[in-house]
Amino acid sequence: MPALNIDRADFLKEEDIVVFEASVARFLDEHAPESRVAKWREAGIVERAIWREAGEAGLLCLAIPEAYGGAGGDFRHEVVLMEQMARKGVSGFLASLHNTIVAPYILHYGSEEQKKRWLPKLASGEFIGAIAMSEPGAGSDLQAVKTSARLDGNHYVINGQKTFISNGQLADLIIVVAKTDPSRGAKGTSLVVVETDQAEGFHRGRNLDKIGMEAQDTSELLFDNARVPTSNLLGPQEGMGFVQLMQQLPQERLTIGITGVATMERALDLTIAYVKERKAFGQRLIDFQNTQFKLAECKTEATVARIFIDRLIGLHLEGKLDAATASMAKYWVSDLENKVVDTCLQLFGGCGYMNEYPIARMFRDSRAQRIYGGSNEIMKVLIARTL
Ligand SMILES: Cc1cc2nc3c(=O)[nH]c(=O)nc-3n(C[C@H](O)[C@H](O)[C@H](O)COP(=O)(O)OP(=O)(O)OC[C@H]3O[C@@H](n4cnc5c(N)ncnc54)[C@H](O)[C@@H]3O)c2cc1C
Repeated sequence: MPALNIDRADFLKEEDIVVFEASVARFLDEHAPESRVAKWREAGIVERAIWREAGEAGLLCLAIPEAYGGAGGDFRHEVVLMEQMARKGVSGFLASLHNTIVAPYILHYGSEEQKKRWLPKLASGEFIGAIAMSEPGAGSDLQAVKTSARLDGNHYVINGQKTFISNGQLADLIIVVAKTDPSRGAKGTSLVVVETDQAEGFHRGRNLDKIGMEAQDTSELLFDNARVPTSNLLGPQEGMGFVQLMQQLPQERLTIGITGVATMERALDLTIAYVKERKAFGQRLIDFQNTQFKLAECKTEATVARIFIDRLIGLHLEGKLDAATASMAKYWVSDLENKVVDTCLQLFGGCGYMNEYPIARMFRDSRAQRIYGGSNEIMKVLIARTL
């Protein structure tokens, strides 16, 4: 039973989208059932095989043109994939980052040769993508990035350390934020693609131990005189990195909001079912007015968030989503997601604290949503600039 009463926006109700949604749901039921996801959590990493399976099913690079091996769809297809993953609790398999963050940098800023070289491999799952911005000394303050890419003949020599990098253990293609001219600050920052099997001097550090998203291989990366050809620069020239990041980050921020709403809807579904079953003091939990009021509040808040996010998806499809509005979606929805999931967890009582209950894992996974993609405080800094 759907958690909310309202309909989705019309552009998400078109027949091909509805058919696609059903096929994504089937794929996840078949290839990512809870028993398999639990094994990934235990291992701290998803199997490489799931990437190939998703590639074969046509679920990677959904909005990349067919000419480059993509599915030739648009952002609505990515929305469907992200929502289905969240609704089915497939946490840690970050196809959304690969599809909506990594691949678009190559599509928008890659040369024809780079697009033909990398996008088909990302679409098939032969290559798993990552983006490495954060460093031990630079997260929110990206201008403080220390990783350097020094020109040496027809190569860049990369030195530095990255941390908290999603897909870090598995990644075959990493977009690295590096200073090509450290004297020029933001204007000396570039995006350089590292193909991990070809870059001598590239090392993977720890697969980090997190409080949630255990199946995700969030990692440290080390570059010790790593050499990559100058043809791996996402150009057309050096120094474009910051502008490119600023142009692409709104989509990343919107995706966090999209996952946030789908997570709230799942939390509501699970909790409503639970409180209708569980009894205390001779009645069902749903019969207590406190339970009804708490869930009425959660449902109202999730509904407001759903309408907001669908409107922003529409704006984004029209190319009209600005950075500040995307930041509102990221910070406000992820804050609300944490509040709603926490309220729902409380209604599960002791079971809510047990990892075998999905609501417990959702509580832990949701926490990262307020931190990554730019912390919620940084979102407010960006919004405040428009006041
Ligand atoms: C699970 C996970 C996955 C991630 N995946 C990736 C990835 O794939 N690639 C990648 O590059 N990074 C990734 N990150 C890193 C993430 O983007 C950073 O953690 C985030 O941007 C915050 O940076 P920081 O950790 O250095 O915190 P800091 O910048 O040190 O911030 C610490 C605190 O200070 C606050 N703060 C900082 N500056 C200001 C300010 N100007 N005003 C007010 N408050 C401020 C922050 O909001 C925060 O609360 C990931 C992080 C996590 C947890």
